[in-house]
Amino acid sequence: MFSLKFGGTSMGSAEAIAQTAQIIIHHPEKDKVVTVSAMSGVTDLLLSSAQYAIQNNVQGYKNILQEIEEKHSTALKILVKEEEFYKEGIDFIQTKLSNLSNFLHALTVIGELSSRSNDEIIALGEILSAKLLSLHLQDLGEKAEFTSLDTIVSSMFKHDHTTSDKHFFECFSHKLGSILTPLLEKNVTPICTGFFGKIPGGIVNAVGRGYSDFTAALIGKACNAEEIQIWTDVSGILSTDPRIVKEAHVITELSFNEATELANLGAKVIHPQTIWPAVKNNILVRIKNTMAPDDPGTAITKRGKDSHYAFKSITVQKNITVLTIQSANMSESGILIDLFQSCASYDISIDLVSTSESSISITIQNGHQHLSRLITELEKRYMVKTVHNKAIIAIVGNEMRKHIGVAGRFFSSLAEANINISMISQGANESNISAVIAGSDANNAVKTVHKEFFHTK
Ligand code: ADP
Ligand code: ASP
Ligand code: MG
Repeated sequence: MFSLKFGGTSMGSAEAIAQTAQIIIHHPEKDKVVTVSAMSGVTDLLLSSAQYAIQNNVQGYKNILQEIEEKHSTALKILVKEEEFYKEGIDFIQTKLSNLSNFLHALTVIGELSSRSNDEIIALGEILSAKLLSLHLQDLGEKAEFTSLDTIVSSMFKHDHTTSDKHFFECFSHKLGSILTPLLEKNVTPICTGFFGKIPGGIVNAVGRGYSDFTAALIGKACNAEEIQIWTDVSGILSTDPRIVKEAHVITELSFNEATELANLGAKVIHPQTIWPAVKNNILVRIKNTMAPDDPGTAITKRGKDSHYAFKSITVQKNITVLTIQSANMSESGILIDLFQSCASYDISIDLVSTSESSISITIQNGHQHLSRLITELEKRYMVKTVHNKAIIAIVGNEMRKHIGVAGRFFSSLAEANINISMISQGANESNISAVIAGSDANNAVKTVHKEFFHTK
């Protein structure tokens, strides 16, 4: 079987959903489980509705609910012709939005948003889009079934899961298999919500935005898929973000490790957790373009394939904070452990680390809710310098293990463009090199490095 995931743009309008349905119907693989994201922009709208509710801005969240209702009803009208299915769709949309309205009303009284409430609210994005697609497929005579994954997670709490760790997701994947396999046996195509439930820590904190890629990967693992296909709005993983460099080219094949590095270093095209469920069963992950389905896309495989370039892709992460700590006695052992433990206790993950005789610098994402508390705690023991609005540019690819002088060219191209580097780091497996630069230099840096390594001279 194949696990197919369609992202926000692929579900973004009636036309896009119709195109998605055609890909599903004409897919060469008979057994498919489909996972969908919310229509593009809807998760952001839902998150804003929650903020309005806790600020007691009733009109604010009502306007949003109206916008969401119109978006889905308009699409339903175009996509579903059969009276019975259309009525089912309208009732579904109205009931779900009225329940959400009641929930938001309760939040105006509480005035606080827990991660569980946040999960409850954003769930609706994928519930509505999955229902739309399944009704459209049924309207076309297909055996498709709307499948909300929420209840599977709820049933797992009877087994004492308190954190959303790998064990939790292994159990979830196992349960997914027991629900989806009987549907496949009846030749039904399940249309699953990319949102999978109220999990410990909340889905946005514990998994992060773009979680539907991960859902499709867990489904692939659960059903021992031959392929996990991520259908999106670009023709694969590119040599960099095409919104920054329009000449970016598609990478034909890369390894599980390279794809994970790219995702962790900021390539938004796949969620960083997409790969690990595929690794154990050695499932091929393919990135495809919904609007250009004949394009071959990018294959992510165990070994990958080296390209003729010095590496595969350039990533950039913006909104980075650099913390540099100094102590009267830097040679004292245990400073690194203390620093890491302090970050862990506030649930703050560190991206890069650079150490010297006199200081230790770490980078973290700006705007973490506990960042100022971490800094206050560290200031009790160390001198702490904080610099916000930095960016991390990274080059990624196994090829650089074999090419001499890649780091030199990377840094000198930045220097020639007058871009100052404030910190550097090389990944332990020699397949990535990162540099911290000013946030305002980020796009220029990506263009410069892309030109240096990928444009034919
Ligand atoms: P979806 O809604 O389908 O999940 P996303 O917006 O999450 O899609 O991811 C696709 C987007 O990722 C692309 O439109 C592109 O702008 C961005 N992107 C960033 N880096 C890359 C890259 N290296 N290759 C391809 N796309 C990238
Ligand atoms: N709709 C969710 C988001 O915007 C999940 C996803 O798109 O995968 O983050
Ligand atoms: Mg995505």
